[in-house]
Amino acid sequence: SETRDQLTSFLQSGIYRFSNSAVPVVFMDPVRVLNRSYSRVRVSPSTYYSRFFSSNVAADGVLRETELSSSSKKRKRKEKKPLTLNEREQAADQRHQQVRPMLLKAHKCLIGAAELLGVLRSLSWDSSSTAERRELTAGGTEPSFLELGKVWQAPLYEITLNVPRTCGSNENEGDNVDQWCDQRVVPVFDNLVVNEIGDEVEAEFLSRKYVIPRQSCFYMSDLGKIHNLIPADPGSGFNLILIDPPWENASAHQKLKYPTLPNRYFLSLPIKKLGHSDGALVGLWVTNRERLRNFVEEELFPSWGVTYAASLFWLKVKADGSLTSDLDLFHHRPYECLLLGYCNGEGDGSELLSGMEETMEDQIVISIPGDYSRKPPVGELLQKYVPGAHPPRCIELFAREMVARWTSWGNEPLRFQDSHFFFR
Ligand code: SAM
Repeated sequence: SETRDQLTSFLQSGIYRFSNSAVPVVFMDPVRVLNRSYSRVRVSPSTYYSRFFSSNVAADGVLRETELSSSSKKRKRKEKKPLTLNEREQAADQRHQQVRPMLLKAHKCLIGAAELLGVLRSLSWDSSSTAERRELTAGGTEPSFLELGKVWQAPLYEITLNVPRTCGSNENEGDNVDQWCDQRVVPVFDNLVVNEIGDEVEAEFLSRKYVIPRQSCFYMSDLGKIHNLIPADPGSGFNLILIDPPWENASAHQKLKYPTLPNRYFLSLPIKKLGHSDGALVGLWVTNRERLRNFVEEELFPSWGVTYAASLFWLKVKADGSLTSDLDLFHHRPYECLLLGYCNGEGDGSELLSGMEETMEDQIVISIPGDYSRKPPVGELLQKYVPGAHPPRCIELFAREMVARWTSWGNEPLRFQDSHFFFR
């Protein structure tokens, strides 16, 4: 019956907690987690997941042999651990060997959870039938926020928020909400756009529709404008700061998914100034490259005033529960790492922070990767480690999506809020 309870709670929350493991291990369905930010729309699983579902897994959920394309077979042969390792590769391998047993154990938990594995195969299906679903109609092609934000007309671009007038005051009128809304037209770039109401808001920009979660805001700008988010009073700074920087690396260049920045740019991120006077928990996504790890440990965290506390490992699996690649594949590990640390605030509560890093433990999140190398929404798993009053103030830097109660900053925070990722 414990398994039943775990499964029931997973179907509601999107988070399955394995109870039989020494380090905390969870399996996450990002779609279910994201859906908790919405009440009238749903994130569409088929647009969230497609890499590990569309071509590889047939309707019966069976993984086909074609899954290993010839190119990845070649890669596998080529990139097994090189026979002789240089100094940096040795250091990287040592790091890997340290976490390897823990990751294997976590994966074993998943493989042992037969009922959960059964659910995994259907995660990409939209549970409601197509007939029941109403698409949020959208016109035109998706605009490139990156390009529009750069042109001289950028300050003139506006977004229209359709804020339901009845929201909160009269539940029964929920269905008519669209007919009763106040239109607010505000600049879309270099401006804090806020949805303060307790319900999502539909927005329009260049004849596309976007969904803005309840009590969330975004600031769409280049790095040069990030200082506009620094609070005038540190007492209203952020308690949780999640950062997924556009690190320079071979694969990001290859795929040209977004522009990257040299490491020195991240040294100037005003982390301390964004932080709350009670202190902040800082989470930084890093790649497995040793050179980057060294930069973070020796330069970046010290320059931000961040003390390392623990790591969260994101283990990537396919719909059949197998790892997305061989755990020992040298340049394509099936896991990524979120480094967690504390940044002391200037307030009285900050002494409480010292020592907090000692109580924090490593944790593992297993999930099926979404498209566009999206990171899973791990914010919720970190809540219990966040200093200061609760609910905490949270911000994601270099965000491409929005979450209820969070501030999203980056040059394309509306990217995954486009209506084609949702249905009613
Ligand atoms: N965490 C995100 C997710 O899971 O979808 C991915 C973030 S991605 C690694 C980095 C983001 O930083 C991209 O959206 C990219 O466009 C943005 N970016 C790159 N250069 C930037 C700049 N100069 N100012 C602001 N954002 C920038």
